[in-house]
Amino acid sequence: MFDDVGLTWRPAPLHHATVSIYDTIGVRTIINAKGPSTRVSGGLLAPEVTAAMKEAAEYCVDMAEIQAGASKIISQVTGAEAGIVTSGAAAGLLLGTAACITGLDPGKMARLPDTTGMKNEVIMVRSQRNFYDHAVRAAGVKIIEVGLPDRVAGAGVRDAEPWEIAEAITDRTAAILYVANGNSRPPLEDVARVAHSRHVPLLVDAAAQLPPVSNLRKFIAAGADLVAFSGGKAIGGPQGSGILCGGRDLIMSAILQQLDLDIAWEQWSPPSNLIDKNRLVGLPPHGIGRPCKVGKETIVGLLVALKRFAAESEQSRHDRYLALVKRIDSSTGSLRNAKTEVREGGTPKFVVTLDRGFRMSGMEACLALQNGTPSIHADPSQAANGVIGFSAACLRQEDPEAIGKRLRDLIG
Ligand SMILES: *Cc1c(COP(=O)(O)O)cnc(C)c1O
Repeated sequence: MFDDVGLTWRPAPLHHATVSIYDTIGVRTIINAKGPSTRVSGGLLAPEVTAAMKEAAEYCVDMAEIQAGASKIISQVTGAEAGIVTSGAAAGLLLGTAACITGLDPGKMARLPDTTGMKNEVIMVRSQRNFYDHAVRAAGVKIIEVGLPDRVAGAGVRDAEPWEIAEAITDRTAAILYVANGNSRPPLEDVARVAHSRHVPLLVDAAAQLPPVSNLRKFIAAGADLVAFSGGKAIGGPQGSGILCGGRDLIMSAILQQLDLDIAWEQWSPPSNLIDKNRLVGLPPHGIGRPCKVGKETIVGLLVALKRFAAESEQSRHDRYLALVKRIDSSTGSLRNAKTEVREGGTPKFVVTLDRGFRMSGMEACLALQNGTPSIHADPSQAANGVIGFSAACLRQEDPEAIGKRLRDLIG
């Protein structure tokens, strides 16, 4: 670490052999076997991505122009009419909701999150409610829940149905929010049919729906008007990045509410592929998305990561992850107090199932891994069943052996 004056270099202990920038701020690095979750700092950037970000940082650009350039690339990759780089999928949900409320009216943009007199309801299937919908509510809308997913009483087998969504639509409806997941009901196509027959925009949260790469186009193709993806998850972009893509007018509204617009009307000449100035009665002041600022380095990093992500085949990604997972397996060997398994189907995973008699519960073992040296963050979602998962997506080359050694020490 640097001393107070910043002149003397004192390396601090950490799990990687080389001295890290994190030492200078007294932060330890962790082994991320959880996957690209926000709380464990997303994933790792490819050298090509960091090189592009470094180069981007060495020049200045006009932010509307760089977003217009991003829009062309995002529309090629997603099939959407337009797209912008956001500071994450959650920011995309906020901006997308704002766009659905205000359209191209700068007066309405200026008043958010006060939605008095505007369309201020977003319809959502109750089983899709989640922590991230706070970003939608932050635009000033109320969420109208529909459907009753009866899972516990044993009486119900249904989730929401399209007619229930249709019934909830009124002249206050700003949008329908759909959270995409393999299990989401009703099917997106059915919700899109309802939305379009009533001229209500459909906003899809697809933050974590990648890979497969084909999902970059899937939701737009199924009829979504706006789709939010996380850039810091599977795409491999900067942790604080995301994509919002969709219809031209909605994206124009979204970017107007994100950009810094502290500029005179006559001085302002935004690229027409992203912002058609002729359609605006005036320039809105800084919008509700202004706190979701995205830097030029982030935009460039996301775009390079997106191209790399879209270019890799599912087979190649699978093989790359499988090789890492197999290395965890072979360096772990057989454990006295647990069964181990390499799961090859879907995204490859290394799974440890603790024996019932073992002195630690699944959660206790996860905590011991987390609090040990090196600190290893595994997937605790099945810990209540004694099952600990290890994902390959965010591992450094040297991590599999370090995980194996630690598992042998801890579980025998
Ligand atoms: C991760 C996630 C988000 C938030 O994505 P960020 O890019 O971190 O803002 C939103 N919705 C869902 C379903 C997610 O999994």
